[in-house]
Amino acid sequence: MQLPIVAIVGRPNVGKSTLLNRLAGGSEAIVYDQPGVTRDRLYLPAEWCGYRFEVVDTGGLVFEDSEVFLPLIREQVEIALAEAAAVLFVVDGQQGITGGDREVADWLRGRKPPVLIVANKLEEPSTALSLAAEFYALGLGEPYAVSAIHGSGTGDLLDALVAVLPKEQPEAQELPELRVSIVGRPNVGKSSLLNALVGGEHPRSMVSEVAGTTRDAIDTLVERGERRYRLIDTAGIRRKSRVDYGPEAFGVTRAIRAIRRADVVVLVVDATEGIHDQERNLAAKIASAGRACVLVVNKWDAIEKDTYTMNHYRDEVRRELDFVEWAPVVFTSALTGQRVEKIFDAIDAAAGQHQRRVSTSVLNEALQDALLWRSPPASRQGRQGKVYYATQIATNPPTFVLFVNDTKLFKEGYRRYLEGQFRGSLGFEGSPVRFIFRGKP
Ligand code: GDP
Ligand code: GDP
Repeated sequence: MQLPIVAIVGRPNVGKSTLLNRLAGGSEAIVYDQPGVTRDRLYLPAEWCGYRFEVVDTGGLVFEDSEVFLPLIREQVEIALAEAAAVLFVVDGQQGITGGDREVADWLRGRKPPVLIVANKLEEPSTALSLAAEFYALGLGEPYAVSAIHGSGTGDLLDALVAVLPKEQPEAQELPELRVSIVGRPNVGKSSLLNALVGGEHPRSMVSEVAGTTRDAIDTLVERGERRYRLIDTAGIRRKSRVDYGPEAFGVTRAIRAIRRADVVVLVVDATEGIHDQERNLAAKIASAGRACVLVVNKWDAIEKDTYTMNHYRDEVRRELDFVEWAPVVFTSALTGQRVEKIFDAIDAAAGQHQRRVSTSVLNEALQDALLWRSPPASRQGRQGKVYYATQIATNPPTFVLFVNDTKLFKEGYRRYLEGQFRGSLGFEGSPVRFIFRGKP
């Protein structure tokens, strides 16, 4: 059973994103990948007086010319009507009814989910109610006067919202579970690391084995602090292939399956050996599957070291495994247990970045900076590439849409430059990030 979904719709600039942050402020976005809900949308958990629901972030479309983008708002409204249990229709209370509001109201009237009109930007108590009352004319019932910025009126709005949502609630989930896969060539120390992670010097509060997805896969559940880790296919890690029968001896298929199932992949390499092709292939798979990644250089005890060794090694590993050059590198010894605990910290951090959502304003600040340092190249005919706006449309991995005048004007080199700049200002260590360039419709 799923939590009821609440959609926020309305013209650009009426305060939808501000209201979204007000209702779901600080919570981590969930991205569903299942039929019935739209993919690549952010669902933010929200709660009012113990009642839980989810707010869909329909993505801030803040273009100057709202006429051009009415079809996009229409699309947003249709998706909302299809999946939402209730719709919050936001209007600008200071501005009064506009043609765009009437249009949206026409789409919403007489449809299935209940619609609440939210007259926003009414922080002035003396005029709030009379200004809000104007919106009765939209024929969608009583308007709620709120100020998304100040929070005033949102309590009444939420009371009314909860009243129209289904009474029954799904069971609250206990601990959030993080799925972790450990992959690497044979003999790099995967099963030794697994034992150290599961046993460790810090006793875990719970360790148990459960069936994985396929017949012979076994996962191990580990609890540590506030978190539960599902270590994927630990049976596959412990199994040793004694004979080399080509790729399958390395359990490549198995490793790829484990990567697909994971949130975070721990790629283990052997410090006493160089990086091999198998590792490069695994790194490429991790990046293309969009998984978070932690690089572990194991058998660090067996290396002759001076003060520069670690930095040297880190650079080399990142250079060789450039598909995941954004991954943190942890140097461990499964033999002595040295820094093994750090793997958990790195997993937590990488998972945090993988789920991270950056506010539209911070994102566009980073974008402006990048554009100022180096503007998009012009075409041979002298046409200049323009980026209007960026917005994050998904997490796990963070995915950004850049609205541009013409996608053809943005070649690989400049796209890489933009990604580098984004990472420079926003970080995202441990997580891949994706960019989608979208031209004007
Ligand atoms: P969206 O395009 O509908 O998502 O609108 P935003 O949330 O981005 O807000 C558009 C503009 O309206 C921003 O400049 C906000 O600061 C402003 N705004 C949002 N809510 C309020 C509010 O309650 N009162 C006032 N005065 N301004 C608001
Ligand atoms: P797997 O095939 O990747 O699971 O590797 P194993 O965990 O079976 O380890 C392969 C070999 O490397 C064994 O002989 C281990 O004792 C040894 N080994 C594993 N981790 C370390 C380590 O941190 N340091 C050293 N010196 N040897 C290790």
